Amino acid sequence: MPDSHAPHLHSCQFRFYGGLNDFLPAEKRYQASAFRFSGTPGLRDSIQAQRVPHVEVALVLVNGQPQSAEYQLQPEDQIAVYPRFQHLQPESSKQWHPPPPEPPRFILDVHLGKLCRHLRMLGFDTRWGNDYEDPFIIDTALAEQRIVLTRDLGILKQARLPWGYFVRAIEPTRQITEITDYFTLADFWQPLTRCINCNGMLARVSKDDILEQLPPGTRRSYDNFYQCHDCRQLFWRGAHYIGLMAKLSGLQEKL
Ligand SMILES: [Zn+2]
Repeated sequence: MPDSHAPHLHSCQFRFYGGLNDFLPAEKRYQASAFRFSGTPGLRDSIQAQRVPHVEVALVLVNGQPQSAEYQLQPEDQIAVYPRFQHLQPESSKQWHPPPPEPPRFILDVHLGKLCRHLRMLGFDTRWGNDYEDPFIIDTALAEQRIVLTRDLGILKQARLPWGYFVRAIEPTRQITEITDYFTLADFWQPLTRCINCNGMLARVSKDDILEQLPPGTRRSYDNFYQCHDCRQLFWRGAHYIGLMAKLSGLQEKL
């Protein structure tokens, strides 16, 4: 890391592309700006010193050449930092992170409970708990090969974390459309395969077998039902499900 007490003897130029600009102060967005340093800081630390989490970086060109996170800055380097682009992943040994699991699996921070339910509704294996602490999230992400979704930049700056994303939107429906777009989740949707409460797997059940558990309106209006293998909760294509799917279909048409 650059030592803030030492004189910054050297300078290089950084330019960030795409959504990475979201992390920069307004006056530094979408243009090259000087980064002053002393010693030989690594690329990852230098990028994170500018508030950009390394997990959102897909490729870095230094003087036109791809470089890894461990590259050490040299005076006058010209550095271009690229985010993950849909359908265009660099074929390079200098790719910053291995490809994420397919279909993507997630672990979410405590603030993203509603996003968790939306992801499970679409069939994604998603862990969330209102008591998850940062070390648990990081250890679980590594052990189970999960992508961390968070609104806490501190988690994403962990060098050992390969996959993560800072969720920009605050409102849960905007969050699910943002995540669907960024991770191209529409390719992997399997609605009504996973329990929104506990992440267990769902299976079709016969209406006759569960008739007595249904409220009268539901009994009249729906015929297809699914039950969680773990917590036994019942699901059907109700108004909430249809509303979310309509919003997400609208998003797909814009892509
Ligand atoms: Zn369940």
